[in-house]
Amino acid sequence: MGIPFFQAARIGAYLLKQELSGRKRYPLVLMLEPLFRCNLACAGCGKIDYPDPILNQRLSYDQCMEAIDECGAPVVSIAGGEPLLHREMPQIVEGYLQRKKFVILCTNALLLAKKIDDYKPSPAFTWSIHLDGNQAMHDKSVCQRGVYDKAVEAIKLAKSRGFQVSINCTLFNDADPVQVADFFDEMKALGLNGITVSPGYAYERAPDQQHFLNRTKTKELFRGILARGNGGKNWPFTQSRMFLNFLAGNEAYHCTPWGNPTRTVFGWQKPCYLLGEGYAKTFAELMNDTEWDKYGVGNYEKCADCMVHSGFEASAVRDMVRNPLKAARVALGGVRTTGAMAKDIPIDKQRKAEFVFSGHVERKMTEIRSAKHGSAKPGPQPTVAAE
Ligand code: SF4
Repeated sequence: MGIPFFQAARIGAYLLKQELSGRKRYPLVLMLEPLFRCNLACAGCGKIDYPDPILNQRLSYDQCMEAIDECGAPVVSIAGGEPLLHREMPQIVEGYLQRKKFVILCTNALLLAKKIDDYKPSPAFTWSIHLDGNQAMHDKSVCQRGVYDKAVEAIKLAKSRGFQVSINCTLFNDADPVQVADFFDEMKALGLNGITVSPGYAYERAPDQQHFLNRTKTKELFRGILARGNGGKNWPFTQSRMFLNFLAGNEAYHCTPWGNPTRTVFGWQKPCYLLGEGYAKTFAELMNDTEWDKYGVGNYEKCADCMVHSGFEASAVRDMVRNPLKAARVALGGVRTTGAMAKDIPIDKQRKAEFVFSGHVERKMTEIRSAKHGSAKPGPQPTVAAE
C-alpha cells in the first residue's frame, strides 16, 4: 500500500470510533476548492468555466481552517482550480498540519518548481500530481503539449527534496489498459509514494462530452488494467483495494457523498464533489438539510454513470471496516479480474436531471456585485486576492 503505517493507523482509529459510536454519516476527506482559477483548460474539466469575478474569488486562510474545524475529517484534499495560484496556500497547508490533518495538495505541477521552497516535507503532507497517463495521454487530456514532461520533472524534484509524492490519474473512454499498466510501471519506477486512479465524471459543463466512461466500460477497463498488475498488487495505490475491487465490477456500492464533503467559494456543495445542486452555509447545514436520498446511482440521472473515488472510496472504506475478512482476501489475493460481475443498481426509477448551474452563478455574481458596493451580507464570504 502507498499509505504509511502511522497514517493508516490514525485514519483507521478515526473510522472505528465513528462506526462504534453508530454515527450514520461522517466525513473522511475534506475536499477543499479554495479557488476555481486554473492555469490549464482541460477538455474534461467541469470546474473552471465561470465568469472572471468568480474565478477571482479565494477562500481565505481563516475560511479554510473553519472548514476543517467544522467538519473534523482526518484528511484534507486541496484541489481547485490550481491551488498553487492561491497566495496563502503555504499557510493553509501549515495550518492543517498543525491541526494534525493529513494534507494532499493536488496540482498540475506547472508552478511546483517555482513554489516548492514555500513548503516543508512532512510524512503528513503529500504532493498529488495530476497525470492522466503517459505523455501522449496526458498532454491530450490537458490540451497542451509539454505538460507531462513538466509534471515528471516536478515529481523528480519533489522526491529529491524529501517530499511524499503521489499522482492522481483520471481515465476516459479512450484509455488503453496496456498503456495504462505500462504507465503505472513507469510511475512506480520513479519511486512514487502513491497512485490514485479514478474514471472521469461526465460534468455537464465539460467542453468534451464524448470521452466519458459508462459503468460497463469502466469495469471492463479496470479489469483490463488490474489484470496486468497482479490484481493491482504491483502498484502503490493510495486507495483502498476495495475501491479498486468496486471499479473492477466486483461490488455494487451505493455512493457515500458525505464521506468527501466539498467546500468551495460558493459554500458547502450539495450533494458531493461532482454535483453542484445547491450550497450550504455551514457543514452542519450540509449534513442536516441535504436530501441525500434524492442522489446516487438509481436515484438521479446525473449519477447513473458515476464511479468516481470522491463518491465511492468512502463506501469501499466502510465496507472494509465492516467486513475485514473480505477486505483482507482482496488485499492479499488482489482484485479479481475475471468471472461474473456484481449485479448493478437498477436505474429505471431514477429522477430526471435538473440543471441549476446558471442560477448559482447568477446568485454569486449578484453577491459579488453587492459586496463590491458595500451593501450585502450574504452567505459564505470569500476573499478576493490577486496572485
Ligand atoms: S453517484 Fe454520488 S458521488 Fe456520484 S455524482 Fe451522484 S451523488 Fe455524487
